Amino acid sequence: MNLCDIKTVKQIMNMFHLTFHKEFGQNFLTDRMVVEDIAEECCTDENSTILEIGPGIGTLTYELALRRRQVISLEIDRGLIPVLSYTLGEFDNVRVINKDVMETDLQELLAPAFAEGPVSVCANLPYYITTPILMKLLESGLPFDYITIMIQAEVADRLCAKAGTKDYGAITAVLAYYGEAEKLFTVPADRFIPAPKVNSTVIRIRLHREKPCKPKNEAMLFRTIKAAFGQRRKTLINALGAGFSELTREELVSAVTACGHDVNIRGERLDIAQFTALSDRLNEILIQKV
Ligand code: SAM
Repeated sequence: MNLCDIKTVKQIMNMFHLTFHKEFGQNFLTDRMVVEDIAEECCTDENSTILEIGPGIGTLTYELALRRRQVISLEIDRGLIPVLSYTLGEFDNVRVINKDVMETDLQELLAPAFAEGPVSVCANLPYYITTPILMKLLESGLPFDYITIMIQAEVADRLCAKAGTKDYGAITAVLAYYGEAEKLFTVPADRFIPAPKVNSTVIRIRLHREKPCKPKNEAMLFRTIKAAFGQRRKTLINALGAGFSELTREELVSAVTACGHDVNIRGERLDIAQFTALSDRLNEILIQKV
């Protein structure tokens, strides 16, 4: 069965009386080379367990099952569960769970897999919920080796941007705290059924084993980043003013200049190490104030 063949996909959908659910971001991959490349590149260790989010009709799951020790797939759409039993029936290393990833306790689900070996994430993500899923994976604190995801090309540009460029934003800085993101390849919209409106890019995030930046207060780091990008056209000091209303302008100027920055610098010029240093300084000032 060739799950990348458009005619086969349509036949399977008809056979199970299914239609593509737009609200679940169902755009299924139909390019065999792309599917194989993702399964190949998603992690380095054959012995890995792969958490897949949104298997669809099992196109990527199939290639992952051939290459990795175990695949655990979470699919929100109940209608696809019998399809997946049909398309993945030959594998005994695939477990499909009918569940919304956002409502899944990943610690509990993956504890046995982590006890057995490395775990990575691989998914062609539903676009309507890309950032919440990525943040859930990162904030889970689970020691994934890699998170390899296919996402909208524009979102990939943002996640992989360098400090000081137009695409660099709060999410870029936050992601850099957790790991190192690289673009693998771009996939044109016509390689999916139904075709989405935009192109997609596969990115791979290698999670830091040991974080290179160690803020004194993690929550303060995220607060600093959020404030810095809250008012993008303003200088960093003015943007921080809106996010830290309990600090005076003098205190903000002193924090920014103590970190070696010009008073007119904009937030988008700071990389994650510089945000960490600034958040430590702001943290100290706030502690001294109470
Ligand atoms: N992996 C398949 C492929 O590459 O052809 C399908 C990818 S499709 C872009 C996204 C899949 O995620 C769909 O199967 C959709 O039903 C599923 N999905 C959407 N929201 C989800 C959620 N919150 N939790 C789990 N699966 C979800």
